[in-house]
Amino acid sequence: MYRTHTCGCLTLRDAGQTVTLAGWVQRMRDLGGMTFIDLRDRYGITQLTFNMETQPGLCAEARRLGREFVLQVTGTVCERSNKNPKIPTGDIEIHVTELRVLNAALVPPFTIEDDTDGGDELRMRYRYLDLRRAMVRKNIELRHRIAQETRRYLDDHQFLEIETPVLIKSTPEGARDFVVPSRMNPGQFYALPQSPQQYKQLLMVSGFDRYFQIVKCFRDEDLRADRQPEFTQIDCEMSFVEQDDVLQLFEGLIKHLFKKIKGIEFKEPFRRMPYSEAMSLYGSDKPDLRFDMKICDLTQLVKGKGFGIFDQAPYIGGICVPGAAAYSRKQTDELTDFVKSPQVGASGLVYVKWNADGTFKSSVDKFYTPDDLRRWMEAAGASAGDLMLVLSGPADRTRVQLGQLRLEMGNRLGLRSKDEFKPLWVVDFPLFEWDEETQRFYAMHHPFTSPRPEDIQYFETDPGRMAAAAYDCVMNGVELGGGSIRIHDADVQQKMFAALGFTPEQAEEQFGFLMHAFQYGAPPHGGIAFGFDRLVSMMAGLDSIRDTIAFPKNNAGRDVMSNSPAPLDASQLRELHIAVTE
Ligand code: ASP
Repeated sequence: MYRTHTCGCLTLRDAGQTVTLAGWVQRMRDLGGMTFIDLRDRYGITQLTFNMETQPGLCAEARRLGREFVLQVTGTVCERSNKNPKIPTGDIEIHVTELRVLNAALVPPFTIEDDTDGGDELRMRYRYLDLRRAMVRKNIELRHRIAQETRRYLDDHQFLEIETPVLIKSTPEGARDFVVPSRMNPGQFYALPQSPQQYKQLLMVSGFDRYFQIVKCFRDEDLRADRQPEFTQIDCEMSFVEQDDVLQLFEGLIKHLFKKIKGIEFKEPFRRMPYSEAMSLYGSDKPDLRFDMKICDLTQLVKGKGFGIFDQAPYIGGICVPGAAAYSRKQTDELTDFVKSPQVGASGLVYVKWNADGTFKSSVDKFYTPDDLRRWMEAAGASAGDLMLVLSGPADRTRVQLGQLRLEMGNRLGLRSKDEFKPLWVVDFPLFEWDEETQRFYAMHHPFTSPRPEDIQYFETDPGRMAAAAYDCVMNGVELGGGSIRIHDADVQQKMFAALGFTPEQAEEQFGFLMHAFQYGAPPHGGIAFGFDRLVSMMAGLDSIRDTIAFPKNNAGRDVMSNSPAPLDASQLRELHIAVTE
């Protein structure tokens, strides 16, 4: 037996016991007569003491140990004179009588402390050491607990966990596929699933009724800040349900997780907000409801006063920033730089200050009287002391820019606390998105998403106006998950493919198996998938999903620890019938 206890469990109640512990040397302090070692394992830290007077040999040996050596020690649990109230074992120490070095360690490349001296790149290269740090380990433990609670909730609701294949035929979810060459079928490739979408729908055809899987998905996208090429979903599908059934059940899952994991109870039902409202009031399909600052449409109010930019703009909108009228010139300049930055892309910013003394000051004073300015501000529900920020341009784009500015102001004003959680459902998404560049419609969610029944009539005449039976679960400006009621009728599915520009032959070639399955009695069905990494990072209060993943990739999609991706041997390539060109 390597140990009788862990390094996190001994307290005064165990005083006098002889115990054996095993773990890593967190640090060693040599105080002449006494040597102290903090021994660490997954469960905590326990202080070991070695006495030079009573056990000079053992003590000398302890002094030679380096950081991260792996030890087994036996000794007596004793009350400490110098207690450490910060850790559960802080009242005791072990007076060591036997010491065995299980393994030596090189000096680690960075300190294994919460406050480490290791940079990002270095810690990723030695991720196995980074994972020894308590704050990183805690995220992985939290991830585990969320996964277990998810399973518990779904199991309690009759969901079956069913695995689906990883080597599949491409499923279109709007991203590029990762592909895998088939040695046995020269010149042919599998794709890695962007999600198990078609398989979970097939499971409904098979009658499984309620499916879930905590599953890896793969999307070969240019990696923006918070993306990973492989990520995990809580993927779910249900039969004989309408949108409301799905929302109820999965609102229940989110509530269950927050209650069990964080002790937070959402008492109210989650708000449901139509997509159009989210876009017009928050400039985003994932509004952050931790603060107000809604977008106000000023288009009618501001026109006709000779200010050319506004007179020509199809849309003018503003947000009112409470208490910010005292912003300095430097601060408003910073905001102008922000809206003009490539990530926002506005051409300029107009501001209006409603000063505390009741006067108005704006960057367009030449064109507008104080009364005009007051009317704008009142339209946005502002009062004296507030600052209004105004952007103009094409409606859709300008709203999104205002949405970005709103979040920026929320950050600046400290309105986006990580301890506050504001969930909602965004519903009534458009079925299609028009792409100017390719001059065609794309499915906003995916091609299996059902239109709302009342909109089916517009497939041929006006697809742009069709709404989808699709929904997103949003929290604090983050999309936690999304799904839809599916098309289960082969005819409607054909119409969908036609609207997306597939010929019947192309549709058959790509999705034939699903179409055929639908001819054998497909039940009405729908589902949802949550981004598991996102959910964990939300609950852990992290900025990045990377910290929730044991072995993540960097922004270039590389695993810097194993140094992959990497070239293949010529012989391996030959076997796969693949030639790499320059
Ligand atoms: N497969 C979808 C996705 O990955 C989720 C769903 O519709 O259930 O976004």
